Amino acid sequence: MSWASLRMLIVVGIVTVSFLVFPLSPAAGAGSESGAWKAGVATVVITPEQSMWMAGYAARNKPSEGKVHDLYAKALALEDVEGARVVLVTMDLIGIPREFRDRLEKEVRLRYKLAGSGLLLNASHTHSGPEVRDWRGTQGWDLPQEQIDLGVRYTEVLFGQLVDLVGRALEAMAPAQLSYTHGRAGVGMNRRLLTANGFVIAPNADGPVDHDVPVLVVSGSDGKTRVLVFGYACHNTTLSDYEFCGDYAGFAQQYIQETHLGTTAMFVAGCGGDQNPTPRRTMEWARQHGRAIANAVEAALAAKSRPVRGPLRVALGEASLELEPPPSVEELKRQAASNDKYQKRYAEEMLREIEGPGRRSNTYPYLVQVVQFGTDLTMIALAGEVLVDYSLRLKSELPGAPVWVAGYCNDVFGYVPSKRVLEEGGYEARGAVLYYGTTMTPFTPSVEKLIVDKVHELVRQVRSEK
Ligand SMILES: [Zn+2]
Repeated sequence: MSWASLRMLIVVGIVTVSFLVFPLSPAAGAGSESGAWKAGVATVVITPEQSMWMAGYAARNKPSEGKVHDLYAKALALEDVEGARVVLVTMDLIGIPREFRDRLEKEVRLRYKLAGSGLLLNASHTHSGPEVRDWRGTQGWDLPQEQIDLGVRYTEVLFGQLVDLVGRALEAMAPAQLSYTHGRAGVGMNRRLLTANGFVIAPNADGPVDHDVPVLVVSGSDGKTRVLVFGYACHNTTLSDYEFCGDYAGFAQQYIQETHLGTTAMFVAGCGGDQNPTPRRTMEWARQHGRAIANAVEAALAAKSRPVRGPLRVALGEASLELEPPPSVEELKRQAASNDKYQKRYAEEMLREIEGPGRRSNTYPYLVQVVQFGTDLTMIALAGEVLVDYSLRLKSELPGAPVWVAGYCNDVFGYVPSKRVLEEGGYEARGAVLYYGTTMTPFTPSVEKLIVDKVHELVRQVRSEK
């Protein structure tokens, strides 16, 4: 099948690009001023054109049926006066695997000379979008082959759309000003509840939360708002239906764009691995949670924004995280006979890796990215389903500029529990490994120190660069 017919078959390829064309402000030209940026934004619809298997929720038993609204990928390109660049790509998707990011990084370096450290991918973690993760890893899940094929093809079309999107955002760059503000929203509740049977997934009103709603405002030099980037640390899982939908994050973006006509709203998922929107499971709650987050953005805008100046510094590094050794061959053979298809697939794949020649690694190469805006804002982009302990700890430990911690960035391979949660046990500590095609064993308790040390190292690096 040709690329063009494939594209038509699967995806509506609508692309809109907003040009930020405004005269330079009087302050422009001085590297330390908030008006000395260039910014460009682009949007593409990524809703599958036909029914497809949906991501998230192991209990799904059929493909999608229609849509509530469209899913989008959006890119914001920023450049300081010295030409340092970063492109933030946000997507109404469950998560992007490492292999996909690496391919995209390579392609945008070749085409646009964008450094790998300047590409930041964030997925909203909606569970009402198409499956885009490792499709080979799903082959033991009894999915119909036609659904696996559709997923592989969708992912290829998505790749082309994202390459194009990044290029369009870079092309659209024009003088702009940046500022930072933040609000609060109570949508997310901790979902780890201690019971007589250990920790289960249920609302826990006493568990840790991060209710911050950080907002980056991108304006033209006339002061008119062009882009609103906002974050929240909570699973994007109000809904568990069969219609494509951006869930609360999709509604929040929609409401903000309706209130601020001509503005692109971009959602950045935070460290919400152990947070659920509460209450949940109805469309009305998804809309209300979206409204609550949109209201928090309005509240943030009502407060005084702080100018965000350059220079821009970016860093991308890897922490080598230690994994538990796999279960014994005897134990894996017992698990491979399980009636649970996820347990069975996990054990079979693990046996293949153990018995194969040198394929099994007991470490995971974990991506950490830092974006430093002068002395005014630090963005930390962490891979995986990061638990809230990380954002709370990093925001309290890092001195100086406001700190924005994003999860679900660059490589969504599984959960990233803190030392506390690993010791407590439960789904995010251990159980969830069965449902990822990455077939990892749980992390050892060193995970938190290794990640936090790498963040500190990269923050020191970007803050010391002249
Ligand atoms: Zn999740």
